[in-house]
Amino acid sequence: MAKVLSDIEIAQQTRLEPIVNIAGKVGLTADDLELYGKYKAKISFDAIKRFSENEDGKLVLVTAITPTPAGEGKTLTTIGLAQALNYMGHKTIVALREPSLGPVFGIKGGAAGGGYSQVLPMEDINLHFTGDMHAITAANNLLAAAIDNHVHQGNALRIDVRRVVWKRVMDMNDRALRHIVVGMGGKVCGFPREDQFMITVASEIMAILCLAHDLMDLKKRMGDIVVAYDLDGNPVRTRQLGVEGAMAILMKDAIKPNLVQTTENTPALVHGGPFANIAHGCNSVVATKLAMKMGDITVTEAGFGADLGAEKFMDIKCRFAGIKPDAVVIVATVRALKMHGGVDKKCLQEENLEALQKGFVNLAKHIDNMRKFDVPVLVGINRFMTDTDEEIALLRQLCRNYGTEAALNNCWAEGGRGGIEMGEKVLKLIEQPRTPYKPLYDIEDTIARKMEIIVKRIYGGAGVVFESNAQKQIKELEKLGLDKMPVCVAKTQYSLSDNPALLGAPSDFTVTVKDVRVCTGAGFIVCQTSNIMTMPGLPKMPAANRMDIDENGVITGLF
Ligand code: ADP
Ligand code: MG
Repeated sequence: MAKVLSDIEIAQQTRLEPIVNIAGKVGLTADDLELYGKYKAKISFDAIKRFSENEDGKLVLVTAITPTPAGEGKTLTTIGLAQALNYMGHKTIVALREPSLGPVFGIKGGAAGGGYSQVLPMEDINLHFTGDMHAITAANNLLAAAIDNHVHQGNALRIDVRRVVWKRVMDMNDRALRHIVVGMGGKVCGFPREDQFMITVASEIMAILCLAHDLMDLKKRMGDIVVAYDLDGNPVRTRQLGVEGAMAILMKDAIKPNLVQTTENTPALVHGGPFANIAHGCNSVVATKLAMKMGDITVTEAGFGADLGAEKFMDIKCRFAGIKPDAVVIVATVRALKMHGGVDKKCLQEENLEALQKGFVNLAKHIDNMRKFDVPVLVGINRFMTDTDEEIALLRQLCRNYGTEAALNNCWAEGGRGGIEMGEKVLKLIEQPRTPYKPLYDIEDTIARKMEIIVKRIYGGAGVVFESNAQKQIKELEKLGLDKMPVCVAKTQYSLSDNPALLGAPSDFTVTVKDVRVCTGAGFIVCQTSNIMTMPGLPKMPAANRMDIDENGVITGLF
């Protein structure tokens, strides 16, 4: 058998086209681009304005079953499907999130796709790219510095230092920064207080970048952020500290979408990257809407399983952006379904039809869930080399029995050609007229009610328990009139429940909410369930330990 090339080896062998040529494929001129070298560009606001007159193309959302350590392949499917549709003669654009350095050097590895379905240059995209992450980090930390400085300079706003809710961020997995004390060192160093670091992709600034319509909306939203409470319990906002203008300066380029290309030179917008377990998990509204104006079809991804990324895509992103997908592809793998059926990670190589059948309940639940939003669904079976023909045939049969089409997805091994069956079936689904937007809940409902609807209808649980602290926080938000917003659940990605050990499609569980926070800039309320870290840690053997670079600048081990 031929040697299986790593993602980075495939990426390094691919001939990239100059980004100006890629831009030309979707009607962008050299004047519309701000170049970051030969293969990356940001798209100017003038171009976005010009395209806004165009009609919207079709939108396809790629989501997945509940992830397992076996790997699902959403990003690669999103890219592969866009390549397939292009190959079939449809002007298709892929819209993805930007990777975070934390997971790149930690456990998960890169987020630029895999095999013959990647976005390139993958080294750059996975590393500093066009600097958006750094801009977000800087804007976030400018605000943090302004808060402590305000307190130090006399605290005219009477900020309660025990109730500063704005945290510092860094784009790295660093558990040692989860709980810290700042302001040590005496009078010139400010007032000591407990503080925390989060990872940049969990920052409200990231969520705002991904939901804002333009730079002025971004500035306004950053001004709206509640950063602390004063000694009387009133919210203190960025605007009162007067730094939203400076923060917007730091974000002036970050708000512009990044144009790159796939392994088959398909145009790709890679912009914004909130995590899906601790944030809303979708790329920017600016990029998605622009892609819909430029292409006939846009394929986009929402993070983790459909209970997290897709639910938030529908209830948060679509609500704010006024969009709705014309079709949803749920990525499933035989391996992961076998794990949901009880097989140990070490034994996934072996054929096991019984476990596959048993684990299908997880896929079935996600299919049901997507139907609740009134969108047509296709299952994309991401083929691994160890899958047997019998297993694939059984999975197709199970989907058919469940009333859903399935298509084989061989985009990892073959690129776009491996996604033709998926492409054909997606084309059929998107031909149907778009149905009206149907969110899961009404934002005018109480926080408790909205949470209960998500837990019962999407997760399949029996109900929600709010710890006493969370109950107090809800009361306070209700009193302040800050409760009529969508809910963004922070939850483990490894289970439909809030317990990572419950695989398959659990029922009769309750979800415990520990913390309720308002993100007035982003426009949603975060309900944090048990043990969700906003600052990940590194594993015993981080991905970083396998990476290197030689004297010619050739990188190895970036997967
Ligand atoms: P997700 O977006 O769901 O997190 P990715 O598309 O980023 O998943 O894929 C995760 C990793 O798994 C990538 O390194 C990719 O190369 C690998 N992978 C995905 N699908 C396959 C497959 N069919 N065969 C081999 N490796 C795969
Ligand atoms: Mg992904």
